[in-house]
Amino acid sequence: MAGRGERSATPEAGAAGGVAQPAASDRPDASAAWRAEVQRRLLGWFQQHRRPLPFRSGRTPYRVLVAEFMLQQTRAEAVGPFFERFVRRFPDVPALAAAADDEVLAVWQGLGYYRRARLLRAAAAEMQARHGGAVPSDPAALRALPGVGPYIAAAVGAFAFGRDEAACDANVRRVLARLCDAPRPDAALAARLLPVGRGPEWNEALMDFGSAVCIPRTPRCAACPLSDVCAGRRAGRAALLPERPPRRPRPEVVVTVLVARDAQGRFGLVRRPATGLLGGLWELPAAEGALDPGEVARRHALRLTAAAVPLAAFRHVFTHRAWTVRPFAASAAADGPEPSAVRWVAAEALAGVPLGGPSARLVAGALRPSAK
Ligand code: SF4
Repeated sequence: MAGRGERSATPEAGAAGGVAQPAASDRPDASAAWRAEVQRRLLGWFQQHRRPLPFRSGRTPYRVLVAEFMLQQTRAEAVGPFFERFVRRFPDVPALAAAADDEVLAVWQGLGYYRRARLLRAAAAEMQARHGGAVPSDPAALRALPGVGPYIAAAVGAFAFGRDEAACDANVRRVLARLCDAPRPDAALAARLLPVGRGPEWNEALMDFGSAVCIPRTPRCAACPLSDVCAGRRAGRAALLPERPPRRPRPEVVVTVLVARDAQGRFGLVRRPATGLLGGLWELPAAEGALDPGEVARRHALRLTAAAVPLAAFRHVFTHRAWTVRPFAASAAADGPEPSAVRWVAAEALAGVPLGGPSARLVAGALRPSAK
């Protein structure tokens, strides 16, 4: 589910070239009357259409911080169940600071972008050590926490501490770009539009409006309460805004995987390197390339006890690359002639082991009654 980025923390993203950027003085947001009208209509719309998202109720600075980490690169609706599970298990900063990385990753499992989970735990450790186990309200102290960039700091400033800070995520950026006909809207534009004293509400209104009406690719201009004041619509290029950087091609990689089990039915798992794709997660023994299963076993110092059996291949798409997974069911000995990094885990213990997506799918397939 991860990877369908709705929210990003890079408000100034945008490439040079493409759609011309009108001078700020020529844009409608230069007019105080236009800004007041947009604010009035959008806040009116929001009163009727506010999304009842779980992380919006019972707000505390800690819950806001957790939600904002989760919302980067992930749709708000998808975050809900993960957020509830996470704050149940780690209800406050001290609980999260005391947890091991593996525990945190296991609760985060399925949400993707696992680097966020490790950074959030590191931020909790820092808050525990330097801020008495609380989320600091000071903007500079917030920005100094691991994983907290301008977007998260602004969102926490607004939602946790009620400040008039413009949290400019991808939804907000899109709405502002279209309303103001500004191909590359920046933080200054977002701040100019924000109605004084209504920062939290305004940010939510823009986010919800961008998710329901001013949506990517095909904005619902016919049903939009702002259509007659929208400069992008009037210019006939709303759907082209904001300007996007050109897409880079996604590398395609073949990965051969062993669904390795020992005589007791335990799964053989290895941990991925701490950084990079699926960093720090566990996975079935694998190697890049269309390899013979014996070669994959050799690379992991695994001793196969029977011929490996091919399983159905599948594709797994990450944000920046795609894998074609070639899995093999393999019986292996838990003890080989050489030391191996493979750890043997019983099915009942898997819940505490954070698994990467492709391996989680293969393990779930192997545990299905029809597969036994
Ligand atoms: S008129 Fe269309 S482009 Fe403009 S704000 Fe409304 S939905 Fe977005």
